[in-house]
Amino acid sequence: MQKKTKIIATLGPSSDSVSKMVSLVMAGVNVFRINLSHSTQPMIKDYIDKVKAVRLKTKQPVAIMIDTRGPEIRVKQFKQQKVQLKRGAIFSFSDGEEMGDENGVAITQPICISDAKVGGVILANDGRMKFKILKKEPHKLICKVLSSGELRNNKSLSFKAQHFEFEYLNEFDKSDLKLALQSGIEYISASFVNTAQDIITLKNFVNTFDKDVKIIAKIENLTGLKNLDEIASLCDGLMVARGDLGVEASFEKLPVYQRKIIATAHKHSIISIVATEMLESMITSIRPTRAEISDVAKAVFDGAGAVMLSGESAMGHDPVACVRVMSKILKEAENEFDYYSKFLAIPKLPKSSSELVIQSAVSASFFLNVKAIVTFTSKGKSAQKLSTIFAKVPIIAITDNEKTYNALALYCGTVAYLKKDEKDLFESAQKVCARYKIAKNGDNVIITTGSTDKISNMMKLETIK
Ligand code: PGA
Ligand code: MN
Repeated sequence: MQKKTKIIATLGPSSDSVSKMVSLVMAGVNVFRINLSHSTQPMIKDYIDKVKAVRLKTKQPVAIMIDTRGPEIRVKQFKQQKVQLKRGAIFSFSDGEEMGDENGVAITQPICISDAKVGGVILANDGRMKFKILKKEPHKLICKVLSSGELRNNKSLSFKAQHFEFEYLNEFDKSDLKLALQSGIEYISASFVNTAQDIITLKNFVNTFDKDVKIIAKIENLTGLKNLDEIASLCDGLMVARGDLGVEASFEKLPVYQRKIIATAHKHSIISIVATEMLESMITSIRPTRAEISDVAKAVFDGAGAVMLSGESAMGHDPVACVRVMSKILKEAENEFDYYSKFLAIPKLPKSSSELVIQSAVSASFFLNVKAIVTFTSKGKSAQKLSTIFAKVPIIAITDNEKTYNALALYCGTVAYLKKDEKDLFESAQKVCARYKIAKNGDNVIITTGSTDKISNMMKLETIK
């Protein structure tokens, strides 16, 4: 049986050959992430072409996820590339262009200078360096250094829990997204989403090129966390972006926030992803640490539908070994996971008749001896709902839309099938069951559909012949 939890692997120098990518898919990768912060336009095009080649070679659905830069705040340049700052020193951030020194440096987002609050905290170097804003002068924030450290050219900054009315999409993101959307992608993971309006801005831009691309909101700071519910109501998934979230949030809160973000995704029946440092030590080591093994399993126990590899697959010494390790831990945790209790705990007030049918199908699957729930999905909606309500048996999602087919690769517990010339759903279902050894002759499956043009809202028990 395949694992249910999906794996996203970030592409980079350790993983960007077609043969390596094929091995990664065989080891359990379902989605490749292209990080715009580290990719030029020729690289983006090349990565997308390679994923397309991997699909042909593996005959598997593989989704492409483009990760935006988002509204980053960075320091500009120093005269000497870097400065050493001592605790207690005075240091200023400004909105100019002048080269920095030990007295201060210019930053990329002028609005942070004009709108920051006196008394607020600025973080740098993954949260290890802190500055307190003492006073504001025209075009300048005068700060006190709260912890000593080295500040280098282009380092990113975080203004703790302060929200600015940024332009959500910068010109770099726009032009890279345009290229990616025209080449064909399934997902955009949107960095530093602060408000529901950020998702609207992104969608307005994206929809002019592709109306079906799915949006994952990365929750990376306290403002995004505060607006979690309204962000979730507008997007197709949430990512627990623990790397950047861990800069602003107190570290002991991270596991709690992880559960909260995943629970919010369940409430809205959207995708949930846990990201960053899941197998960090395997960038150089051949074995995961005990703590990492538990962390990957915890993602499953928290109900996450997907986990992500960043540096491990982009620049680690053996990404394939890493994915094998991850797949093994996921399967073991899934074996232990109590799907029925989780299913019982979700609210049972269906908002539509198709939702009622989907809930009934999953409910029935716990009592009848069935091997799978089969559904037809054209844009992925009914499969998405099914994949977030904790069915224990596999969900076989049959579609006639190639883009949906690849997007389904990220849906938890879902086996996708691209319908060819079969005459009905049941014939397609028989083929998938045989191909993936999900059910043999005489086994039962539940067939259900949400609403499609031809059939609407039905649930049926069928025996594989
Ligand atoms: P990143 O996002 O890898 O693009 O920074 C994930 C995170 O911050 O955890
Ligand atoms: Mn991030």
